[in-house]
Amino acid sequence: MKEFDYVIIGGGCAGLSLAYELEIHEKFKDKTLAIIEPRAEYKRDKTWSFWKVIPHNFDDCVKKNWDNFSINVPGKTNYLECKDYPYQSIDSGLFYQKINNRLKENKNISFFKDIAEINTKNSFIFNSVPEIKKSHLNLWQHFCGVEIETKNDFFDEEIFNLMDFDCEQRESVHFFYTLPFSKNRALIETTWLSKMNDSSQKDYNNQIKEYIEKLLKIKNYEITYKEEGAIPLFYPVYKKEKNKINIGTAGGMTRLSTGYTFLNIQEHCKFIRENIENISRTSKFEIGKKYQFLDDIFLRVLSRHPEKMSGIFFNMFKTSPKTVIKFLSNKSNILEDLSIILKMPKWIFIKALFY
Ligand SMILES: Cc1cc2nc3c(=O)[nH]c(=O)nc-3n(C[C@H](O)[C@H](O)[C@H](O)COP(=O)(O)OP(=O)(O)OC[C@H]3O[C@@H](n4cnc5c(N)ncnc54)[C@H](O)[C@@H]3O)c2cc1C
Repeated sequence: MKEFDYVIIGGGCAGLSLAYELEIHEKFKDKTLAIIEPRAEYKRDKTWSFWKVIPHNFDDCVKKNWDNFSINVPGKTNYLECKDYPYQSIDSGLFYQKINNRLKENKNISFFKDIAEINTKNSFIFNSVPEIKKSHLNLWQHFCGVEIETKNDFFDEEIFNLMDFDCEQRESVHFFYTLPFSKNRALIETTWLSKMNDSSQKDYNNQIKEYIEKLLKIKNYEITYKEEGAIPLFYPVYKKEKNKINIGTAGGMTRLSTGYTFLNIQEHCKFIRENIENISRTSKFEIGKKYQFLDDIFLRVLSRHPEKMSGIFFNMFKTSPKTVIKFLSNKSNILEDLSIILKMPKWIFIKALFY
């Protein structure tokens, strides 16, 4: 069986981002890589969005940038600017195509469907397949989105809606998220923060139909794309092993309070590339400890007081949007953290700190 210097398990966002980062920095000139990915074909399956707080390799896969956004709770809307850190949406179809086209040109890179096809005894492994321990206590962000094309121009393409809480909450946290790619094309997602075992929230098609037709009052439209998924708002199992590190969601790259993962993956890939020659002795890359600590408290509040969360998110954005964006993207300083913390309901958060 063939052996490789490096093996990437899972050719999804993290696996391909890492392979691409190493390839463009010429790390496979005299090293070999095997990518293990079971999917039969690559097609668009996700839309990765984030505030661009750092440079990344995929500007040419961006569907749209926005400098303005809104957030609303029943009866109130806050309009905000994000010129310093534009919000970007990446089309996963373009991302997969760009990376695979590049990787296929390097004969030192091979693709397999199953790890059993190769010998990994002497390889360094980057694993992106998470080991999830099922627990009824764990919170998930689960969602379903559709891209629609309307017959007539309907959307203001200059502003996206980050969170619209003006919808049924069903004793959880629920909001809609709208990304208008043009005047007549938008991605609309129904998003829940809740315990995954609650299947009563999975009537996604009805939720989306009602939102589009009753709340937005759009009559003539066609669904052109659909995505569905769930992001664990807890860290998957991570066993320390000498010749293996986890990447992506499996590697703890999801910011637990928000589900944002894409840019953390890119930072992790850069860190690996900078340390690749010494990778088995390099320390673990993590999202900053202060964010892990604050997110833990935040999620405790969320699971105990879901009914308060729309107000908490709304108030958070009363701080300067630049500060909130930096905080949500792990780039805030201590003063910025404090200004966010001061916007939180103090007693509830203090109680969550202690139990
Ligand atoms: C629908 C959706 C939308 C999201 N939107 C955003 C967003 O807007 N912004 C953001 O920052 N984050 C977002 N996320 C979170 C996160 O960015 C993505 O989940 C991202 O794809 C995580 O990358 P990953 O490589 O860890 O996992 P994946 O991209 O899921 O890659 C894992 C790969 O492993 C493969 N695999 C599975 N089993 C095996 C096996 N046994 N052996 C080998 N390979 C295997 C899978 O086929 C897959 O290709 C979203 C997540 C989902 C599900």
